[in-house]
Amino acid sequence: MGKLIKEQDEKGRLHIDTPLLGESLVSKELLRRTEADEYFRMHPDIHVLKIGGQSIMDRGAKALMPILDVLIEAKEHYKLLLLTGGGTRARHVYNIGMDLGMPTGVLSKLGDKVASQNAEMLAVLLAKHGGIRIGHGDHLEQLTMFCRQGYLPITPGIPPFGFFEHPAELGSIPPHRTDSGSFLLAENIGAKSLIYLKDEKGLYENDPKKAKDKDSLTYYDKLSVDELIALDLEDLIIERPVLNFLKHAKSLKQLQVIDALRHPEHIMRALEGEHVGTIIHQ
Ligand code: ADP
Ligand code: MG
Repeated sequence: MGKLIKEQDEKGRLHIDTPLLGESLVSKELLRRTEADEYFRMHPDIHVLKIGGQSIMDRGAKALMPILDVLIEAKEHYKLLLLTGGGTRARHVYNIGMDLGMPTGVLSKLGDKVASQNAEMLAVLLAKHGGIRIGHGDHLEQLTMFCRQGYLPITPGIPPFGFFEHPAELGSIPPHRTDSGSFLLAENIGAKSLIYLKDEKGLYENDPKKAKDKDSLTYYDKLSVDELIALDLEDLIIERPVLNFLKHAKSLKQLQVIDALRHPEHIMRALEGEHVGTIIHQ
């Protein structure tokens, strides 16, 4: 940082002679030069936790309440930001939208309401413990302050692409959903860690729910994102765009996927830096 702005001249005048003047901002050579040695991190102490929609919240109180108990305790020791997934209701609205031939960006707009509903529910459940629902607008700079005051900020995990959603590589389901949004936010606030709370032990070679015998599947306890991309697995426990995000991330070096359904206590262990679940690293 600090090398891009030119000194003022001997008379104290500042000449704006920007090195980016006349550049397309597309040139690879130029872009390479814009790489910083180290990126500024806005909230370096915050752990970003995504609570699965389908994998956790759709299962109701039995799944959710033990997790909330852990989070209420964890908040006393760690700074946390909770993001919510969509889940079954988002899948249903995608299905209706697809039946009507709706484009990806419209499906994205339909699905984002569901993650908001889940954020609302968490905010209500956690209200008396300092849970506070925040939007994607003006409050993301204030996360550390909220946490210092004892609050537990909650926001929908969906990224605000809407009509600007990228075309999907395959089909029409919006590729950037709440795993992607959680990654992008964690990366851009310079978070300390990113943990996905799901309902499986971690990453297998294929969806364990569709396997005849889960134990016959290869389980990956730790692997690099390049290895994972090369494996080109048929199905994944996190949205596929997250892999490329991690590959190119400037701040986040890894992410962790844990089974918070069977093992809510793994949340605390992951926050302590323990290796539970699957770690995917750069
Ligand atoms: P969330 O509700 O957190 O977004 P999803 O249901 O969308 O979670 O994704 C998690 C699910 O992905 C797991 O419950 C599992 O059934 C499935 N899955 C698909 N492929 C894999 C894989 N390779 N390894 C583990 N789980 C997988
Ligand atoms: Mg999902």
